[in-house]
Amino acid sequence: MVSLKEKFGRIVGADRVSDGAAERYVYSRDMTENPPHEPQLVVMPSTAEEVQQIVRLANEERVPLVPFATGQSVGGLTIPQVDDAVIVDLKRMNKILNVDEEGMYIVVEPGVTFGHVRKYLDENHPSLRYTYPISSPFTSVIANALLQGLCDLSTRYGAMAEFINGLEAVLPTGEIVRVGSAILGDDNWFGRFPLPDLVGLFTGWQGMTGIVTKMALQLWPKKPFTRHFALFTFGEFMTTDLLKQIARGDLAEDAGALSFSVVKALIGMPAPIEAIEGEPDYGTFLTLSGITSLELDEKVRVLERIVDRSKAEEPKNLLIPFEAVARLMSEEAYGWVDFPSDSFKQLTEYDGLTWMGTYIHPKNWGEALFKGRRIVEKYGYELMAFLKPMKGMHFCEFKFIIRFPRDDENLKKVRQCNNELLDLALDLKAIPYKTPVWSARKLHERADPNFIELVRRIRNLLDPNGIMNPGRWGL
Ligand SMILES: Cc1cc2nc3c(=O)[nH]c(=O)nc-3n(C[C@H](O)[C@H](O)[C@H](O)COP(=O)(O)OP(=O)(O)OC[C@H]3O[C@@H](n4cnc5c(N)ncnc54)[C@H](O)[C@@H]3O)c2cc1C
Repeated sequence: MVSLKEKFGRIVGADRVSDGAAERYVYSRDMTENPPHEPQLVVMPSTAEEVQQIVRLANEERVPLVPFATGQSVGGLTIPQVDDAVIVDLKRMNKILNVDEEGMYIVVEPGVTFGHVRKYLDENHPSLRYTYPISSPFTSVIANALLQGLCDLSTRYGAMAEFINGLEAVLPTGEIVRVGSAILGDDNWFGRFPLPDLVGLFTGWQGMTGIVTKMALQLWPKKPFTRHFALFTFGEFMTTDLLKQIARGDLAEDAGALSFSVVKALIGMPAPIEAIEGEPDYGTFLTLSGITSLELDEKVRVLERIVDRSKAEEPKNLLIPFEAVARLMSEEAYGWVDFPSDSFKQLTEYDGLTWMGTYIHPKNWGEALFKGRRIVEKYGYELMAFLKPMKGMHFCEFKFIIRFPRDDENLKKVRQCNNELLDLALDLKAIPYKTPVWSARKLHERADPNFIELVRRIRNLLDPNGIMNPGRWGL
């Protein structure tokens, strides 16, 4: 009898499928507290046609598939939820297929990383830029967009799914489909509208509705005049109020606020970091840009005025040009504002890393930060809060990151802490993102049941044999 491994090997080549103990171990876990679960096989396709054959075989054999890009979601999102899963690692599909200068988009395969895109654009299309997260350059551009993540243009343009012009996917039943304007041809990925917006069948689904094999993403003109600033502030409500004013004024391309302990980690302080009486609570890195120096100068003046006004309430608020930070900390500091970079590698100082992150209504942002901080402090972890105003202040992001040693005591403590943070977030009607299964289940308990039922129905319709990432998102 032909084994499953041999059958997959016939599709991708025998050297691109493995059931080795080492591979099964590596793909069974991530840095988070989410419980590991070994797959039976790992396969590495290199074309959409191979993905299609893998999906067809999985249907025949009723084998669960888990799409995998780089496994850096910090939500356990590539850990199989059922026995005998096959991991479909898409890293070999790493071609940048096209950059359309006039339509300002890039078409990529799922193994393309932020590092690839930045290098390619800088070398070949220097007037255009993509948008980059603080994660390492090797993380996947497509997975980040599918997960509705956030990058350094999100303060202006919103979550990453908004950057998607269209995509190609292998459905759970094996058909290859396109959505977006490229339904009229491969040279036509200019947008999603006016059409039924089926991009939403794939974003936010954590690989439950198919395997995306190609995606067109918006690029933006690189503004020739750019300056970076660091803003140091005190108190959660003061910090979020200032960020709201800056974002609503459309002053900053990017505004990423970090609790001061993260700033101290970035400058090389060893863990665990403790807060010192009197130091600022938050440091925000701001990027301002303009198509003329005049435009940029005016934005800087408005920013200075906003910060000056805030001093009536908190005289210690401080705005400094980033050149001053770089003089103090060396040129390496530019890795904190010019992405992708490896400058946030301090977050992986321990073998454990987790977060509870959400998108939230602006009115609840300060309270979430204020109360969340108390929860993290109660559990004795370093305060590592990250905040970003999103889409011109239509909504906001906050997350609490915890880096921890993976011993039993910390695994238990970190679960309790994240649970409490999630309860707080849901009380404030925040929506958790990149949701691990435990977190999705809590969301289901509070959400409109008809929404959850609709999600289930769509999933069953697309995937009648239930082969795509079963158990994911608590479904
Ligand atoms: C230190 C650190 C900092 C980070 N900072 C940021 C940040 O600033 N902003 C941000 O948004 N994220 C951040 N992340 C998270 C991470 O970088 C992103 O979520 C990442 O881009 C997702 O890509 P991945 O390759 O890790 O996806 P994976 O973990 O491999 O996959 C994630 C999910 O998508 C599914 N999936 C993957 N590829 C496909 C596909 N082609 N078709 C269908 N489903 C698919 C998987 O099944 C899984 O459910 C950070 C992570 C770390 C470790």
